[in-house]
Amino acid sequence: MLDKVSSHYTESVPVITIDGTSSAGKGVISRLLAEEMGWHFLDSGAIYRVLALIVIRKKIPQDNVPLIVAAGTGLDIQFVTEQGRSQQVILSGEDVTAAIRQEECGNVASRISRFPEIRSMLIAKQHSFRRPPGLVADGRDMGTVIFPKAKLKFFLTASTEERARRRLLQLQDQGINATLDTILKDLTDRDERDRNRTLSPLKPDPDAVIIDTTKLSIDEVLQQTLAHVKNMHF
Ligand code: C5P
Repeated sequence: MLDKVSSHYTESVPVITIDGTSSAGKGVISRLLAEEMGWHFLDSGAIYRVLALIVIRKKIPQDNVPLIVAAGTGLDIQFVTEQGRSQQVILSGEDVTAAIRQEECGNVASRISRFPEIRSMLIAKQHSFRRPPGLVADGRDMGTVIFPKAKLKFFLTASTEERARRRLLQLQDQGINATLDTILKDLTDRDERDRNRTLSPLKPDPDAVIIDTTKLSIDEVLQQTLAHVKNMHF
């Protein structure tokens, strides 16, 4: 009953979805767009990464779906945004922001996220971010599965080489050592897995505006998305 009331209520809250391949710029653009609009922001990948972190720490086999579902049920994740700081991810009171950004977490996230039971378990958590005045949702299946009725959907892509270059810079910024070759391989493997899974595969919704960010700056991509937002008169 309560679920029905809350889903009915949130149906009226507008959503913009931003899906796409890894390191195509979804995260930064979603965050900036949410800030610009004064809306909430959902980093759905962070939820999958937190679950991956638990799997790694508890040494749960990556194909043991019942154990992973048990470990993830009632997951206590908080996203905290303090003014002037980027979002922090808190798992049961512990700040795991840096831990979940490790390559290993991304890779394990993409392995466990192919199981339907695991995806279903995380749906309600993702829907709970839909609160007034609006939500910008970043992920792989935001426009296709989680918020299929969103009024505006984007799909961001970029060449594999450019995405690997950006990822390398990001890791170097965090003081993490990596080589371009390893990152290229990781990205390609992860995209392959995300594209080829049966449930919620990575693909643009037919209504999505596709933006190739290979040769665009962050600001250029943001301006393109804002131009579409303006036309929607939210
Ligand atoms: O976006 P991010 O790189 O943090 O996501 C990590 C992994 O989590 C992805 O490679 C994908 O396998 C999975 N994911 C997903 N559905 C989402 C968001 C992320 O399957 N909506």
